[in-house]
Amino acid sequence: MKIVSAEFIKSATRPGNYPPNELPEIAFAGRSNVGKSSLINVLVNRKSLVRTSSTPGRTQLINFFNINGEFSLVDLPGYGFAKVPLAVKKSWGPMIRNYLEIRESLRGVIFIFDIRRVPREEDLRMLDWLEEFAVPTIPVITKIDKIKKSQLEKQIKPIVAETGLPRDAFTLFSATTREGKDEIWERIEAALDV
Ligand code: GDP
Repeated sequence: MKIVSAEFIKSATRPGNYPPNELPEIAFAGRSNVGKSSLINVLVNRKSLVRTSSTPGRTQLINFFNINGEFSLVDLPGYGFAKVPLAVKKSWGPMIRNYLEIRESLRGVIFIFDIRRVPREEDLRMLDWLEEFAVPTIPVITKIDKIKKSQLEKQIKPIVAETGLPRDAFTLFSATTREGKDEIWERIEAALDV
């Protein structure tokens, strides 16, 4: 994918504030600190289109970006950060679920897992919603540069087991080496049908 332009459109929490359903859309989901911002920035070749934060859980909004005037990328709020106030935590579920349920232009979700972490309750809830609303899902395992090549498959096993997704469904990625970038774009293009 050749990135000609990548622009922030707006932030929203509820459907009334989403931008119009004009362009096909791909959203990114995962727990706080999973590497979601880093992945999006690598995909669009921008150092900081999406703010990577040293305070995980700070971005509690749905952020919409326009790419090449052709499609949208959407950064969904990260979940599962322990230090966030309970009221904020409680609002995430409905915010994300609502978006997945009603967003007509949504063509797929890049669902991100950390190679060093076993998926937890929130991840599995997210998977249930994706299934419930029949949203095409592109699972990605990131930070693979943190693990020795010889240990990769061993680390992937619990992620496959917990999610119940087939091993082949996962694309491996590293924001550091950029490995997996082309494959993710191919899968996004297929989902967008561009
Ligand atoms: P977000 O909260 O999901 O948006 O996560 P960030 O993109 O802000 O990343 C969280 C932390 O993980 C940051 O310190 C990043 O530099 C680091 N990180 C993200 N992706 C990778 C990766 O592929 N490899 C390595 N080694 N570190 C990463």
